[in-house]
Amino acid sequence: MLDTIDGFDRIGDENAFAVLARATALGDKGMDIINLGIGQPDFPTPPHIVEAAVRSLRDGHHGYTAANGIAPLRAAVCADLHRRLSVEVDPDNVMIVPGGKVTMFAAILMFGQPGVEIMYPDPGFPIYRSMIEFTGAKPVPIPMREESGFAFSADETLSLITNKTRLIILNSPANPTGGVTPPEEIDALVAGLEAHPNVAILSDEIYGQMTYDGLEHRSLLTYPQLRDRLILLDGWSKTYAMTGWRLGYSVWPDALADKARKLAVNSWSCVNATAQHGGLAALEGPQDCVSEMMAAFERRRALVVERLNALPGVTCATPGGAFYAFPNVSALGTPAKRLASDLLEKTGVATIGGPDFGTLGEGYLRVSYANSESRIAEAMDRFEAFLNERG
Ligand code: PLP
Repeated sequence: MLDTIDGFDRIGDENAFAVLARATALGDKGMDIINLGIGQPDFPTPPHIVEAAVRSLRDGHHGYTAANGIAPLRAAVCADLHRRLSVEVDPDNVMIVPGGKVTMFAAILMFGQPGVEIMYPDPGFPIYRSMIEFTGAKPVPIPMREESGFAFSADETLSLITNKTRLIILNSPANPTGGVTPPEEIDALVAGLEAHPNVAILSDEIYGQMTYDGLEHRSLLTYPQLRDRLILLDGWSKTYAMTGWRLGYSVWPDALADKARKLAVNSWSCVNATAQHGGLAALEGPQDCVSEMMAAFERRRALVVERLNALPGVTCATPGGAFYAFPNVSALGTPAKRLASDLLEKTGVATIGGPDFGTLGEGYLRVSYANSESRIAEAMDRFEAFLNERG
């Protein structure tokens, strides 16, 4: 009887955590693991952020906070959005949440129900589809193709809208591909959306400060005509190497801000106070830590792309953002998940098979280059030897 609870046959998973568990188990047995699987910066959180959090505990910030977050942090989020994007946001529209993921959980829960369609990127972050299916809504994939630089096409996205579409999820810079959708495409999408005033947008911009080669990240928040139906997802996890702090934020349109707050009150109550004080120091403190991490990621990106392209049967487009490469391994003739699993079991190199991010991910691997240059080079040596051995 307990195994028939409604909806749980439809909820999915994030296989990156399963790969992490398997890699850890192999590591515990003595195998030398190089983790290019999980999507988290390998840097420690910058010391001034850690210090601020420790100080907040000593200063007695041990209690509940407002459900939508402490006022100074919400104000700091608005100041940061103004500094980066030149937009005005009211702190009442900002909600501090326990990790970026929680914004997608809340937004999809609000819009999803049987009879409704929700569009999401494929390949894309697996939780989008999982949560859409959990609510009983129909998931409608937006193809993110290699030949388009893993960006979405405005025309194709608009053509997928029906009278059942309630929410469109967008993600640029993107996981798992590192694709960055160009500003012209975003302009065209926003212009086309004027004909669909009842469709809301969830823009996942968690990698918004992570682009290379001077590529512009065009935030959906910069379009005033969308503000009454845009939910922005962002957070500290990737930009400030704070994945384990569980800290993120959303910007909600006026009509949804109080609903989001009620979801918080009914579940997590508030984000732990210490993490919020750490997040405040991150936004108010020096930003060189962000540019230093990005400089390291840029060097690693060059290395990983060069080495992947040198592998027999592998090609890899240069990703414009985030810290993922998405090499095309289709010529190797092995299903990508099988390839990722063989690579881990035989060489200790953890990657994620593209199908874990959607059906269009077949033929690709996600390689997270959040690891040192020497370990990335060693991983590529092992990958090369593995391919040569199998012939
Ligand atoms: N959105 C995307 C596209 C991600 O890749 C991730 C994490 O990998 C998240 C959201 C979730 O971030 P957080 O760890 O802050 O929940």
